[in-house]
Amino acid sequence: TNGACKVVLASAIAKELLAEVASGLQTRERPPRLYGFLANEDPAARMYADWTAKTCRENGFDFILRKVDREDLEDELRTANVDDEVDGIIVYYPVFGSRRDQTLQWTVSMYKDVEGLSPQLISNMYQNIRFLDPPNNTRKSILPCTPLAVIKILEHLNIYNTFLDYSKRLFGRRITVINRSEVVGRPLAALLANDGAEVYSVDVTGVQQFSRGGGLKKQEHEVRDMDGWGLEQCLPISDVVISGVPGDRYKVPTGLIREGAVCINFSSEKNFNPDIKEKASIYVPAIGKVTIVVLMRNLLRIVQNKPSINGL
Ligand code: NAD
Repeated sequence: TNGACKVVLASAIAKELLAEVASGLQTRERPPRLYGFLANEDPAARMYADWTAKTCRENGFDFILRKVDREDLEDELRTANVDDEVDGIIVYYPVFGSRRDQTLQWTVSMYKDVEGLSPQLISNMYQNIRFLDPPNNTRKSILPCTPLAVIKILEHLNIYNTFLDYSKRLFGRRITVINRSEVVGRPLAALLANDGAEVYSVDVTGVQQFSRGGGLKKQEHEVRDMDGWGLEQCLPISDVVISGVPGDRYKVPTGLIREGAVCINFSSEKNFNPDIKEKASIYVPAIGKVTIVVLMRNLLRIVQNKPSINGL
């Protein structure tokens, strides 16, 4: 009965992106260097750091793990910000597990922020500003890794229609995103809407619609509260369902999903039941491997964005 559903693994998608990153790397004089700051004892963070180290090194990037006391981290970040040997910076969160973590996020220079979480980068993203140097438009703004990984997956699966103009390629698609966190769900909903989709962003507080309006008349997306809406309204009309609810208890109700929908899970646990394969046309069970390649791609962007010595 699973015959019709294609299960697509992140590794296959990562491979294609890696080839693009590898060709970009060839033009660099030295391997781009990433500093990973680990200031907690969280085993998941340690695992992610080790995994990043391995993937970076296997692909010609230089990764240096910096284990620091969390009270020293802000100073360490300021030093790395002005150190020419350091191209990119990533901090493994949570550090304090409180609002203080946001101060750390703000401390990382936007010119070294591979995660794309600096205030200016986030603000560019929400406003659909794609370059750092308008009107020249030679230096691309850095996008947050996990949302961008989802976009790269949708491109790989041809959900982006390349017959349409750039930034309109999701026109006509309805997409449900379950999770509206500040680091993944909300930026993802905004990016998809900026590319032309009608997005239903679902969280425990309710459903919001992100969209550029009829005929994509608006330059950037607008957000509307969908009073009285729940998954019952969103799922049956969605071409794509993207879920990222933490914990192993949450499951997207398969019965509500449209026949032939494309289903993507970015939670570290499985948000879809096994019977999703009897409903979906394409199922992507995990995306972590793509996220790491996007991180390297962001690092490459950052070194490409640097003005050359003679200022050109
Ligand atoms: P988070 O805890 O900050 O946010 C989770 C969000 O989901 C919250 O807004 C919460 O209210 C919402 N939520 C909880 N229950 C819900 C429900 N029943 N329906 C709708 N929304 C619900 O977590 P996060 O940083 O957004 O990460 C989410 C998941 O994605 C985690 O499992 C994390 O490990 C994973 N993650 C994966 C990658 C990757 O590359 N694969 C990257 C980052 C995070």
